[in-house]
This record gives sequence, structure tokens and C-alpha cells, in this order.
Amino acid sequence: MIIVMETNANREQVNGIVARVKALGLGAHLSEGEERTIIGIVGSPLPPTLDDELEVQSGVERVVRITKKYKLTGWDFHPQKTRIAVRDVVIGGDAVTIIAGPCSVESEEQTVDTARAIKAAGATILRGGAYKPRTSPYEFRGLGRRGLEILATAREETGMPIITEVMTPADIEQVGEFTDIFQIGARNAQNYLLLEEVGKAGKPVMLKRGLSMLMEEWLLAAEYVMAQGNPDVILCERGIRTFESSTRNTLDVSSVPVIQGMSHLPVFIDPSHAAGKRALVPALALAGIAAGADGLMIEVHPSPDHALSDGAQSLTFDQFDELTPRIAAVAEAVGRSFAPMPQMAAV
Ligand code: PEP
Ligand code: MN
Repeated sequence: MIIVMETNANREQVNGIVARVKALGLGAHLSEGEERTIIGIVGSPLPPTLDDELEVQSGVERVVRITKKYKLTGWDFHPQKTRIAVRDVVIGGDAVTIIAGPCSVESEEQTVDTARAIKAAGATILRGGAYKPRTSPYEFRGLGRRGLEILATAREETGMPIITEVMTPADIEQVGEFTDIFQIGARNAQNYLLLEEVGKAGKPVMLKRGLSMLMEEWLLAAEYVMAQGNPDVILCERGIRTFESSTRNTLDVSSVPVIQGMSHLPVFIDPSHAAGKRALVPALALAGIAAGADGLMIEVHPSPDHALSDGAQSLTFDQFDELTPRIAAVAEAVGRSFAPMPQMAAV
């Protein structure tokens, strides 16, 4: 249910509604737009007479029952597109955002060199895994805390915010000491307890799409994070499992406009995990921007053939350098901009 307040409703009237809703054991989420406030009510059961009761309160324009399962992620609850500020970078604004970096943090040199190279090419956020979900337990599973420390060093060196994956609630506090954005990987995209805990951690969360997740399931997973009071969720399409084996996964480009029709959250494309092969990454990256994605997450490594994870899909510095002007051109063609370095001058 949403309560649409009148344009001149005052704070006291809004607080009165929120207090009443909370007294019923329901959740109230405010969306304060430029013109008016919308109060989204979640929880169950919604008393059958609640609409009638709230509709006559002062300051209320109308009450609307929302029948969609997803609520906080949907346009009804939040009619403005979500913008997320991470240090100097704005995600979900006019400019597309490029996140890049190695699949895994392997050493300080590898990570800092990569950070410098991607920054020079126009990326604004550094990625790198310290805790890696690997299909085989015998493969490199990340440097753990040391990896987080290295990412923090790379941030100091370049001024770029960092994003890294958290795989378990037990690691949230430690990862949160370092990271600017939590990444929830495809394999954990429906780990609801993890989603709830990360929702309490007070930092933006990038939620990858699970290997076989429907759009509605994806939004409901994001809903677990947002229901904890964290509005800053970024969705990232990284390819889904299909019968096709010529790529690692099948990039569902249509997820971008479909999600944008359903939700106000920013949507990214990860062409690297979709493609599985570096030669395919540029085409998928450009397709993502052409489809209207708010940004890209791309794996880049100083020496992909020696990478400890996902080398086959990682771009070299030169390849990334060649790609970013093409991303800028496509962004411009679809009415977006490409703002390499608001923070470059500051560092
Ligand atoms: C990654 O970003 O390195 C990763 C493991 O991604 P995904 O969860 O999409 O497989
Ligand atoms: Mn990877």
C-alpha cells in the first residue's frame, strides 16, 4: 500500500501516518520527492479497513493498494530513479559508471597497477575479489583480509571507491571496514539471510542476478536488502544459464529495459562473466550501454594469461583503453554521458 501525501503536507502529518503504521506492526518507508512524499507500507496482514482509515487523515491525498509482490524496488513506492553517491561517484545519474579491475586481488602490485590503468582509461570504481566464490573448492579462493587491505591501498593511491564481494554474514563486518560497495555474487543472489544482514550494514549493495533468476525474483532479492532500511541497491546482469555453450553464460540484454520498466534501481551489465571470453567482452559491453544500462562492471588484469581466476575473460590494459572511448560514443548516442573522472582532479 502507498500513501500519497498532498503536495503541501507537513512533517507532522507524515510522522503521524508513520507512527500509526508502525503501531500496527507494519513497516513504513518514506520516499521524499521534490513535489510530495510517498509513504510505502509493507508487512502483513494489512488491516482491511486501513485504506479507509488513512485516506481521511489530514495531509493525505490518496491511498493505493499495490498488488505487485515487489514493493520498495518498484516505481509505485519510489517514483524517482535511484541515484547513489559513492564518495565522488554518482551511480544512476546521467553519466554511465564504469567499474573495472581484476577478478581476484592477487598482489598489491597487480591491484594498484590495474587501478591506475583503469582510472587513466576512464573507470571510476575499482573492483577486486578478496573472498572468491569458486565453482571448484581446489581453485584460488582469494587473499581474504589481505586482499581487502590491498584494495584499500589502491583506493588511497587513486582516489577510486572500491567494490568487493561478501559471501557470508560472518564476513560483513570485516568487509564493511574496507569496502565502499558490497557485492553479492550470482551464487548468493537468493541467500536471503545474507541479503538481510548486508542490508543492515549501511553501505550500497550491488546484487548480481542469479544464474536462473526471473526478473521478479531478482527484485524480491533486492527487496530483502531494502526492507532492512538500505535504499542503495544496484542490480547487475551478468548472464544467465541457458542451453547455449559458446559463451560462459547468456547475456540477457533485455533485462535492462525490462528492469527499468519495473524498478527505479540502477542496472549494470557485467559483460565479462556473461561472455567468458575476452574477445566477446567489448561487443557485450557496448550492447549493455546501448540498451540503457547505468554502468558496466568489467574484469581487467595486467597479465590475463597468468590471472589466478577468470583470466580468459579479463581484458588487458590496452584492450580496456581501446574500449572506453567506444563506450563513451555509445553512451552519447543513447542520450547518456561518460564522465571519466570527477575525482581525477582531486587526487
Ligand atoms: C565476480 O564478479 O568475480 C563474480 C564471481 O561474479 P558472479 O557472482 O557474477 O559470478
Ligand atoms: Mn570473476
